Amino acid sequence: MVRKMGFYAVLAYVLYGLFFYWYFFQLPEPKLPFEYQGTKADPTTFLNGRELMLTEEYSKIRNLLFFLSTPFEWLFYFLILLFGFSKAFKRWAESSTKYKFLHTAIYLFWLSLFAYIATFPLSYISYSLSKTYHISTQSFPAWMKDELIDFWINFGTWLIIVPVLYWLMKKSKKRWWLYGWLLSVPFTLFMMFLQPVVIDPLYNDFYPLKDKQLETKILAMAEKSHIPAKHVFEVDMAEKTNALNAYVTGIGSNARIVLWDTTLNKLNDNQILFIMAHEMCHYVEKHIYWGIGGYLLLSLLGLYLTYRLMNWTVKRYGKEFKIPDVRDIRSLPLFFMIISMLIFVSSPFTNFASRYQETRADQYAIQMTKNPKAAISSFQELTRSGLSQVNPPLLVKIFRYTHPSMLDRISKLEEYEIKQRNNE
Ligand SMILES: [Zn+2]
Repeated sequence: MVRKMGFYAVLAYVLYGLFFYWYFFQLPEPKLPFEYQGTKADPTTFLNGRELMLTEEYSKIRNLLFFLSTPFEWLFYFLILLFGFSKAFKRWAESSTKYKFLHTAIYLFWLSLFAYIATFPLSYISYSLSKTYHISTQSFPAWMKDELIDFWINFGTWLIIVPVLYWLMKKSKKRWWLYGWLLSVPFTLFMMFLQPVVIDPLYNDFYPLKDKQLETKILAMAEKSHIPAKHVFEVDMAEKTNALNAYVTGIGSNARIVLWDTTLNKLNDNQILFIMAHEMCHYVEKHIYWGIGGYLLLSLLGLYLTYRLMNWTVKRYGKEFKIPDVRDIRSLPLFFMIISMLIFVSSPFTNFASRYQETRADQYAIQMTKNPKAAISSFQELTRSGLSQVNPPLLVKIFRYTHPSMLDRISKLEEYEIKQRNNE
């Protein structure tokens, strides 16, 4: 039975992978709809032949990697349970020390380590692909350093969550998901508060804008939106990537707008002001808080479903998965697997909500700057430097796109430009 289940799981994964290979590489490219051809959103008008070809190649492979990696995690946890690794990790933990409070930590360490090793090839392929296409500028040691920081931050976070979770399960078999969720509310807020000042600086340096002339212009605009100057930062990304970006992060007194230095280096002042106005909308309209609110609501539903699914699975397949009881730490891979599946399934909805916010931010930005030329050319440059797809296939849009496609974004700006011209 165990071998059969393992065989079918691997087979399902391979078939799933083949489907996406066919979807991205065999199915003909979606053509740009007729009404967009020749407009400023049409990539043939602003990318040269070589850039067009690279964009197409690069995005095909990246899209495939995206769809392969999450279900690979599920397969990993499935096999870890099926072939008794989870049981072995627990045994190793118990035999390595007599201190009971360390058992969960050691178990978690082995599980994290195996998961890291299993998913390493896919992460490495992603990195080297990005390097080949001149997006990433990071050396292997620098990349590996970031990977190790990731590993320890993940491990540290789960080390706080997992013991509490299993303690709650033991205290209340039927309500642990609810108590767990109640505790997750202050924990999430606390982590969001710490993110920009404790976690992000482990990876990069953050400082006030270097270009003082530009800073004056940006701060003048920030003042119009009632954003205090101390909330605007520059981050050194040029040694890691050629891509451009800016974002809003943190909550309360740690809320801030961050501009990648690559964005500052590659765009002119008017283009930067447009990007900045876009980020200001996220800040002013408190999109982060809406995001956290939505996340907390979804996680309540998610934890309840996890509780139901874990009970069902252990009842039905407890023997094959070697989980005698949900409350036994051996069920942790099952917990991770279900959470990962639920996140994947809910991503079309969360992406949809995020695209709504992004559309609002674009509108706000163009109303604020009233310079569609600069806005359009900044998006064209964003597309070029990240080799991003202007018009991605449907499934990519649904599962991957937290922003509207560049086709939508640029053509909205072009509409504005036409309206503006007619009003003159
Ligand atoms: Zn945005």
